[in-house]
Amino acid sequence: MKRDFFPYFALYFLLFSPLLQAQDVALPADKMLVIHQLSNGLLQAQTKQSATRMIRQRLYIAKDRLRIESMEGQRTVVIVRLDKRLLWKWNPQNPKKEYEEVPFSKFEREYKRRLRRKASFKQRILTSALPKRRKVEILQQAYLNPFGPDLVSVGKSSQKKEISGFPCEEWIVERNGFEVARLWTTKGAYSPSYLFRFYKALKAFTPEEERAIEKIEGFPILLRIRLQYFIGASYKVFDIYAHIQNIEQRPLELYPFRLPPGWKKKSTNAVLKCAYPKCKNLVKVKKFRVIHHGKVYYCCKQQHQIKLMILFAKQR
Ligand SMILES: [Zn+2]
Repeated sequence: MKRDFFPYFALYFLLFSPLLQAQDVALPADKMLVIHQLSNGLLQAQTKQSATRMIRQRLYIAKDRLRIESMEGQRTVVIVRLDKRLLWKWNPQNPKKEYEEVPFSKFEREYKRRLRRKASFKQRILTSALPKRRKVEILQQAYLNPFGPDLVSVGKSSQKKEISGFPCEEWIVERNGFEVARLWTTKGAYSPSYLFRFYKALKAFTPEEERAIEKIEGFPILLRIRLQYFIGASYKVFDIYAHIQNIEQRPLELYPFRLPPGWKKKSTNAVLKCAYPKCKNLVKVKKFRVIHHGKVYYCCKQQHQIKLMILFAKQR
């Protein structure tokens, strides 16, 4: 489960750029948006190399559907379907032709886990034997508020510049007084308001962050977002960049939002066979387990759990 976490976390970046918006330029129902951008936010686990490498990505957006593809490096395709409350993810070069299906409920669970980890990090520091001044320093370095809940604010600077041919204004998001995002947005570009639902559905932000982001005006052409990932007594910081090169409106087609024909769903639970030797069934729920010489064995049902226990007892 822990291994799974990262790729989805990284996914949020990809969603950032088209989704942060406040303009009400609606996308007609018979049209889709195709966006080309450079980003270091990959769909695969982040490594030191991938974190600094900008790759080309293409995004398709229509109604309640979103597709993101990486055009370089490890090729990955992700489709987000709000109508089905799930996302599909696959590597087009996978010879097994298998895709992963992730229900939104998983993002809900991961969001809660992120909040728990963040709270536990804060608690650990606050209850440690460190001097008070040091505690405050550590928490502030982690963009946390030592004296209460997170305070998120957003504001427009006086900076203006042209990026990818769009006149842009600069916005800065701060958490507890520290910059966590800088965005250059343009007004009058495509920015269908319903897009906000994508990242809400994937639980990328806390409610305070969502409220701050909703205040940003215009469509982000260039952005840098700093994300944190708390693990026990430490945390990692990732900077995500996305730079839109162009945005086109094309007639709506449905194939970009569908699974590739002939591909099969990858089973989410690793195939686990009943540990009772005379049984060939698969273990559907990890409920009936036997611990023997420090190793865990799972059985398909209670009857086989008991039989396996007797078998191990006989071996002694
Ligand atoms: Zn069995």
